[in-house]
Amino acid sequence: MRRRKTAIFFLILGISLSVLAVALNIGWILLNLRQVVLLVLGIIFFALIITGLILNTIFLIREIRRNEQHDAFINSVTHELKTPIASIKLYLETLKTRDVEPEKRREFYEVMLADADRLLGTVDQVLKAGGTKENLPKPAKEELDLAVLLKECAATVRTQRKLDAAVLRFTEPAEPVRVVGDRAELKTAFVNLIDNAVKYSPDDPKVSIRMKKAALNRRVEVLIKDNGIGIPPADLKRVFKRFYRVPGRSATQPGGTGLGLFIVKSIVERHGGRVSANSRGEGSGSTFIVQLPIV
Ligand code: ADP
Repeated sequence: MRRRKTAIFFLILGISLSVLAVALNIGWILLNLRQVVLLVLGIIFFALIITGLILNTIFLIREIRRNEQHDAFINSVTHELKTPIASIKLYLETLKTRDVEPEKRREFYEVMLADADRLLGTVDQVLKAGGTKENLPKPAKEELDLAVLLKECAATVRTQRKLDAAVLRFTEPAEPVRVVGDRAELKTAFVNLIDNAVKYSPDDPKVSIRMKKAALNRRVEVLIKDNGIGIPPADLKRVFKRFYRVPGRSATQPGGTGLGLFIVKSIVERHGGRVSANSRGEGSGSTFIVQLPIV
């Protein structure tokens, strides 16, 4: 009887201990599971927070950069608008208050007309750069002799900037190259590139314009090379962005809005082409290459 009681006691003890062990085990597993779940959740939330912070920082840096560029843009556009207006005003005041000789008067008119052209040019650039791909009309599809067009562009820059014939050198291609496109748009793009080549070559500019067939004669490359201030390697792509002007040059850099190359890029791309810049760095000149499909 005592043995039975003892057996029951030990049985109960055994069962109780087993239940306790199982409960402890399950409890331990449950507790740890909670910790593991908490750990995993913690890691996920931590990763999410870190990703969010990184994205936020990138966004803020971009926003700050964009704001800086907008400020620089507003400053340069204001400058580009103010200078010719101030000049026209000065000439008009002189004409109003003084008796100016006819020859001088004609000279004044010429200067005022040039200033008005400069104003129109800036306004035109701002309007063109404001157009998005959707709201721009499709470019005309005219067959054009590229050499003739390039010579016209060179002549325009020569007249606008009153350059000697030796400054712009155009190399005639061996045979005519024809492209399909919008004459006015392509002219805007090439005049911009040639004008930049002269504008960013302060001492004795020498600009060469030549054409080269590429991609098994299916494309033509127009190379516009100057001996000017050059472009640092990091900026070779950025110069095509809207408002972008190479920084740290404010003292030496001539006036501008940072829109020209952005307009050039969008025109060239609308014609199925590509544009890129090459330069060995500051002071080593630059070459702009426009690639267009040949008819
Ligand atoms: P803008 O001339 O009005 O500043 P662009 O879009 O035409 O605007 O050019 C953007 C920037 O690229 C210029 O501010 C200049 O720093 C640089 N750049 C363009 N063309 C040349 C060039 N031929 N040589 C050196 N730098 C150039």
